[in-house]
Amino acid sequence: MYKDIGCGEVREKDEGKIFRFAGWVHKRRDHGSLIFIDLRDSKGIIQIVFDPSKSVDSHKIALSLRSEWVIEVKGSVKKRIKGAENPNLLTGKIEVIATEIKILNKSKTPPFEVNEDINIDENLRLKYRYLDLRKPKMQKNIKTRHIVTKAIWDFLHEKDFVQIETPILIKSTPEGARDYVVPSRVHQGNFYALPQSPQQMKQVLMVSGFERYFQIARCFRDEDLRADRQPEHTQLDFEMSFVEQDDVLNLVEDLYKYLIRKISPNAEIPEKFPRISFKESMDVYGTDKPDLRFDLKLVDLTDVFSNSDFGVFNKTIDSNGIIKGLVAPGCFSYSRSQISELNQLIVENGGPGVFTLTRTNKKNNDLEVQDIKSAFSKFVNIEKLKESILISKCEEDDLLLICAGSKKIVNQSLSLLRNKIAEDLNLIKTDSFSFAFIVDFPLFEWNLDEEKWDAMHHVFTSPKDEHIKYLDSNPGDIIGQLFDLVCNGVELGSGSIRIHNREIQEKVFNIIGYSSSEVSERFSTILESFEYGAPPHGGMGLGLDRLVAMLVGESSIREVITFPKTQTAFDPLFDTPSLISNQQLTELNLDIHNKE
Ligand code: ASP
Repeated sequence: MYKDIGCGEVREKDEGKIFRFAGWVHKRRDHGSLIFIDLRDSKGIIQIVFDPSKSVDSHKIALSLRSEWVIEVKGSVKKRIKGAENPNLLTGKIEVIATEIKILNKSKTPPFEVNEDINIDENLRLKYRYLDLRKPKMQKNIKTRHIVTKAIWDFLHEKDFVQIETPILIKSTPEGARDYVVPSRVHQGNFYALPQSPQQMKQVLMVSGFERYFQIARCFRDEDLRADRQPEHTQLDFEMSFVEQDDVLNLVEDLYKYLIRKISPNAEIPEKFPRISFKESMDVYGTDKPDLRFDLKLVDLTDVFSNSDFGVFNKTIDSNGIIKGLVAPGCFSYSRSQISELNQLIVENGGPGVFTLTRTNKKNNDLEVQDIKSAFSKFVNIEKLKESILISKCEEDDLLLICAGSKKIVNQSLSLLRNKIAEDLNLIKTDSFSFAFIVDFPLFEWNLDEEKWDAMHHVFTSPKDEHIKYLDSNPGDIIGQLFDLVCNGVELGSGSIRIHNREIQEKVFNIIGYSSSEVSERFSTILESFEYGAPPHGGMGLGLDRLVAMLVGESSIREVITFPKTQTAFDPLFDTPSLISNQQLTELNLDIHNKE
């Protein structure tokens, strides 16, 4: 070993001891005759002092040091003098007086400072990721990821789960995205798919009699990347046999409480994660990923405003739309420009714009039309106006925001406003993890463009037992045994109780519109396995990247992935995807036709 101890590990109690250190020059400062080096390794940073009166040779070498050079230093630990202490460093009360130094390697001037946390173009960071990862913040992020992963292993091992790896070269499993495919050289013209998730394999493992499986699994999805997606992501994938929905949810609840307490012991976390039905979530928060760190709720005003003289409301109701409101507490005196900012937010996101309503401080019963300020107050009779105020609990210092339009758009718009108002009013508690399970989703959703049913989650989800009878008549009425885990407005994962019966599974394929040849081509294995004593089973896939990002307070998952790709699924570090050689193409019997 080149070192006796890590740079960040020395403390006051070590005063007088002599150690060898090895690491990178984080910073160098010349103070007259003394040279100070902040030396960094994976354990932290320590200040090394080169004093010519202690070692002329070392001081001379130290003069030549530059950022990111790799050195080995020997010296003795000394308490810093009062006033020279650095409270930002764990080693801030001591320093090391160097007696020997050896340069182990030099470094070119890095393309960006490793020792400063300033905004650097992300492409540059990714191109030189090996330098970017040297930053103390990135080291912490990646190490936290390790700790989370280990904690998951520990927790699940204790609960009798078996970690099982599943293959990467597989037959396609649908998760609603495009597959990444790999051509086979041996079976020319045939392709493997990379797993969008190990879904079918983990279900088959349940048929195999492993009653509790887990894997920290890589999932590959060839999607047009939205803001914070990656072509490959990591999830905690698990499956359990002989369980019902609550068994799965309780396990995840205990696991997440365990993880948060491990990483963020002071964070606020609910003892019991609320279970909210999909319908309630959409009605009350306008989304199935509600941020529950604040308590703003939407109210349905469709009935209240029906049969008014206001054209916009009438048209909305006639075309099966809805009218909903949201109270912005204490925002009575919002200025025109503040309101137009809210309006713009909605319109930019495809929404209809927002109506506002405020009232004077009279008692609700005494309100008259002139006490209510709104673009539509003269078209809606006073009783209805009063009712809308009563239902929405709009007080005299509040602002009632109202949207009218299709259900989807109104919910989307008010959910955006809900988050924006919470942010503007500082209602969001920091260091709090507001988990919830969203349950009772419909099994299918109607695909308007293709005029067909799609699986709400994936095709292997079981209907509620009492809804199986609707498979033949009313697929739209079926509630599935599927669930999402959400936290602070973000979906962290989803899962379900699965179908374990061939006949029911075939009916679901049928409703989704798979032809029988497609079914036998793609799903014959799992269907056949169901005929050999498949146990009831269920499980989840929970995103690891997002969880770790939340735990370390990062908004982008790229900050917790060692080698992420860009928004265009490109890897700037290894410059890929890239061409392959003609020989490889010939071996695979592939031709590339360049698009003109
Ligand atoms: N395979 C699912 C997914 O990746 C998770 C699950 O249902 O277990 O979303």
